[in-house]
Amino acid sequence: MKAEHAVQRQLLELAKVDAELSRVEHRRRTLPELAEIDEAEKTMRERRDALVSTETAVSDLDREIARQEKEIESVRARGDRDRKLMESGSVSAKQMTDIQHELDTLARRQNALEDDLLELMERREALELDARRTGAEVDKAGQSLAEAKHRRDEAFADLDTTRARREDDRAKLLPRFGEDLLRLYERVRAHKGIGAALLRARRCGACQLELDRNTVAEIKAAPENEVVQCDNCGAVLVRTLESGL
Ligand SMILES: [Zn+2]
Repeated sequence: MKAEHAVQRQLLELAKVDAELSRVEHRRRTLPELAEIDEAEKTMRERRDALVSTETAVSDLDREIARQEKEIESVRARGDRDRKLMESGSVSAKQMTDIQHELDTLARRQNALEDDLLELMERREALELDARRTGAEVDKAGQSLAEAKHRRDEAFADLDTTRARREDDRAKLLPRFGEDLLRLYERVRAHKGIGAALLRARRCGACQLELDRNTVAEIKAAPENEVVQCDNCGAVLVRTLESGL
């Protein structure tokens, strides 16, 4: 394939623009904010789940506390009834002893129930504290998430601007190249990432491989307008005074 040497040199400009476009794409995919967002979303999910289970435990305890209070109430009511009966004077001495015995049993039962209730209340208090702490963690994760998203969007906007500029540069450069040369350049770029490079000090500027003696001799012998490619990566090798030929 033939192409004027000056045109070949302009392929280097195109390659530079394309390298920058690749950098933009790479940067878009590897922004640290993306990993940060994933991490914050994970934390958020975990903390929310933890909050839900703590809240469930609190409402389970609430039901248990209500049951316990009802039980205490019924023991107390029974004691009141017994005391009224004793005060009424309508019971025999034998019955009085039985009632007194029952009142003692009820008092012990009430004490035990009240101790249990206190323990339930304490557990509830601890859970509430836990729920408040977890809630604060959810808020914090949400804040980190929003901040990371904001930074990601700003970075994306910058990258979009750079990309638009380089696309513009690219569109201006393209008409300078013949169809065949451009097709060759694009094909190599699609396969290897770099379509054209400077041949510098006998080394391919794309894959960095050093050319052997025979290849160097062949390139040296080739007319200036002959399009030469790297045997290794296929990149169009643009010759200049730095090429070491
Ligand atoms: Zn190469």
